[in-house]
Amino acid sequence: MTHPVGPILIEGARCFDGHALLRERVDIYLDGGRVAWVGDGPVAPDARRIRAGDRLVMPGLIDTHVHLESPAVPDRTGYLVRTPETLIAFYAAYNARLTLEAGFTTLRNMGTYASVALRQAIDRGLIDGPRILAGGYVDMTGGHFDLMRPLVFPRQPEDTADGEAAVRQAVRRHVRAGVDFIKIATTGGIGSEGDDSDWVTYSEAEVAAICDEAHNLMRHVACHAQGNAGIKRALGADIDTLEHGTFMDADALQMLLRSKAVLIPTLSFFHGVVTRGRELNLPPRWLEKCGPGYEAAKATVRMAREAGVRIAYGTDSAGRHAPHGNNAGELALMVGLGYTPEQMLIAATSAAAATIGLGDETGRIAAGFSADLLLVNGDPLTDITLLQDKRRIEQIILRGRIMVDRT
Ligand SMILES: [Zn+2]
Repeated sequence: MTHPVGPILIEGARCFDGHALLRERVDIYLDGGRVAWVGDGPVAPDARRIRAGDRLVMPGLIDTHVHLESPAVPDRTGYLVRTPETLIAFYAAYNARLTLEAGFTTLRNMGTYASVALRQAIDRGLIDGPRILAGGYVDMTGGHFDLMRPLVFPRQPEDTADGEAAVRQAVRRHVRAGVDFIKIATTGGIGSEGDDSDWVTYSEAEVAAICDEAHNLMRHVACHAQGNAGIKRALGADIDTLEHGTFMDADALQMLLRSKAVLIPTLSFFHGVVTRGRELNLPPRWLEKCGPGYEAAKATVRMAREAGVRIAYGTDSAGRHAPHGNNAGELALMVGLGYTPEQMLIAATSAAAATIGLGDETGRIAAGFSADLLLVNGDPLTDITLLQDKRRIEQIILRGRIMVDRT
């Protein structure tokens, strides 16, 4: 089922390489699914030639925080109760395709085993889709993820894990099933009804055990944390990415600067709930929590930018409030808070790749990297919003194959 990848020569490109805009126009040669060279080199006689013209060539975008199993359906509870995991995998595949068509060639999915199967199906060439890192949740009884399920939902013993031995076993079970990373929560949240952002979830010993076990098995740990005390609990442990970081104070910011963790702000979630929550009939408790949450999230982003905190691009795309395929909206939200378009393109390419352990594989246009790139009509370095218009992303190349061609 895998398609052969013929060589492609992109001629005379203005190129943002994942770090900066190159000064000269360059030729870029793709062969065997990889960037063979940028600048000058041998070209096979049968290479397909693409004239870049005025288009910008840039790495495929990366979203490090999506929920592919959460589609844009009106009745979320009904979906959760009535959709078996086998069918959820098809929803995930559909959402992954929508996101790819928006220019995102790599996704880190906070997911279920459906997304492990999706990653495997894509990697084996059974279906087309973006590169996926699939996560596994480790959550305590009554934790944020546990409470996102309806209370009457039939629960399996392995849905939650409490105590150091149990959380280690949960990590091992996920790794056995094929997950690429572990997702935990050290606070309650906003997109849930029974909990509060100020809850601190999991003990220090449990968080430490999860990080230790995951790292032993060469998996990174993504940690949802919104309330300040729980953010500090996460940063006091060895987590790799801090998701949201909503109500962070100056002390927590200092801890973040001293830690190796990368901040993933996910403004799209807050923006979607605040601007469209009422019209979408979201639970009143979400709306109540999200107003102050969005203000705090914006303050965190401003503070992080001024302090030079390392960030990576992530949207929390899920449901109807932050629909899959609209992932580029976060770029403009972050630029609105003071980041430059170039800083955001770095956050969504090379920095995102490095954050999720793919820094030598994607997120850059350089020899040896996977040939994941976009040809964009216009200049997102001066107008970041144009990436929200899919027609502007004229060609999307993933692993050397033209996956979308709108020319
Ligand atoms: Zn999320």
